[in-house]
Amino acid sequence: MKILVVDRSRVFRALWSRMVLAAGHKPIMASSGAEGLARIAENDLELVCASITLPDMSGTEFCRQVRAQASGHDLPLILLTTQQDHEIRREAFEAGATDVHDKTNIRDLFHQAARYGRPVEHAHEGHVLYVEDSPTVARVMTRILEGMGLEVAHFRSAADALDAFDQGNWDLVLSDILVEGEISGMGLVSRLRQQFPDKTSLPIVAMSGMDDQNRRAELFRLGVNDFVTKPVLEDEVRARIGNLLANKRLFEEVQSQRKKLYDMAMIDPLTGLRNRNVLAECAARFFTEANRADMPLSLILLDIDHFKKINDTHGHLLGDEVLVGVGELLRTTGRESDVALRFGGEEFLLVLPECDLFDAHTRAEELRQQLRELRPAGLTITASFGVTSRPSGRDVSMNDLFRVADQAVYQAKNEGRDRVVSRALDDATAPTPAQDDTPAENPGTSVQPAG
Ligand code: GH3
Ligand code: MG
Ligand code: MG
Ligand code: MG
Repeated sequence: MKILVVDRSRVFRALWSRMVLAAGHKPIMASSGAEGLARIAENDLELVCASITLPDMSGTEFCRQVRAQASGHDLPLILLTTQQDHEIRREAFEAGATDVHDKTNIRDLFHQAARYGRPVEHAHEGHVLYVEDSPTVARVMTRILEGMGLEVAHFRSAADALDAFDQGNWDLVLSDILVEGEISGMGLVSRLRQQFPDKTSLPIVAMSGMDDQNRRAELFRLGVNDFVTKPVLEDEVRARIGNLLANKRLFEEVQSQRKKLYDMAMIDPLTGLRNRNVLAECAARFFTEANRADMPLSLILLDIDHFKKINDTHGHLLGDEVLVGVGELLRTTGRESDVALRFGGEEFLLVLPECDLFDAHTRAEELRQQLRELRPAGLTITASFGVTSRPSGRDVSMNDLFRVADQAVYQAKNEGRDRVVSRALDDATAPTPAQDDTPAENPGTSVQPAG
């Protein structure tokens, strides 16, 4: 950075010049206010540091004259003083100083000079939906927005903008408050916020020539994120819009990180099915609803038969391939409202809302057949199925049903595998221990109705 230091003392100037150099910047020196003003006019400076007492004028007067000069009106300007009292600060700010700094400790000022530099304009990306009925204002604002790197779709009425809203993927809405047509800018804001509750992260900026305090408060209540008065101050508008877009981006990053974390916790990476962590969440919802409305709700638990043998004979990778195939089958068949989970190793669970024991049994039978025909990784595989349902007129929990489904699977295994065992909740007696591990000659179905 090119930094101008204005001070009457030759000793200080020499000292500070070395400090500026040591901090990696280029020093330019002046010994008086008049000389400082001349340096500002002839150089393309990035920061000015001036003592509060100069031989020809006060520091605050120097500030005022810098601000009055074309090359100095927005130049960062620090006043250096040994007395940091409130009054001096107030006068300095009134005169246009950017900041006031302790003269006895300015090494760190030069080291941190970059923070006083003009903000680096980041190029923005995004689509702005812009509503403005005055062609003149629209031209100015469009130029500003496009200068920021944004794409602008300009509408003269709120109704047109509202029609277009659905068609675009907008990053910002900027709307004049008083626009021609039936819907005002206020109306547009309230409609956008009411009709698109999933777009709360979309920033809306209201613009108006009338700076009416009540209206402003009302706009913020309706859901605008910022307010800009006309005529616009270009730098301010750019900074405000830039901040909103940066916040939106940040919010979206957080959202997507959150989704990634959720997926990592809830989705089984091998099959892409949800895992048992999801159960607590979805079970609570399904069971509460079914209990309240006294609707049927069924579980199908399935366990691949002799899966260990597949691993042992063909290798773990092939075993994985089988699991992927089974997952795919479960995900792509059945109703939209069914939830398929990989419950554990080679066990899968289907939660079937609004499905009674009879239908769930039929579904399990279909799956048993489909699984036999699937031949994932070129192998014929079978599974044992346990099915159970929420009985009408009784509140049940996930645990209640799962225990029964698990027992039904156990029974299916005992009876020779590759079969469906359905059990009503009241029929949940402990199964007899396994006696035989060989598949039965005639695999099939066993239904035990409510006893
Ligand atoms: P059963 O018919 O009684 O269910 O016999 P099984 O061999 O299927 O049951 P067991 O519980 O003895 O073995 C399950 C096997 O599943 C053991 C385990 O190594 C394997 N397994 C669990 N998770 C994975 C996995 O992600 N990939 C692979 N390839 N194998 C897995
Ligand atoms: Mg207007
Ligand atoms: Mg198992
Ligand atoms: Mg198994």
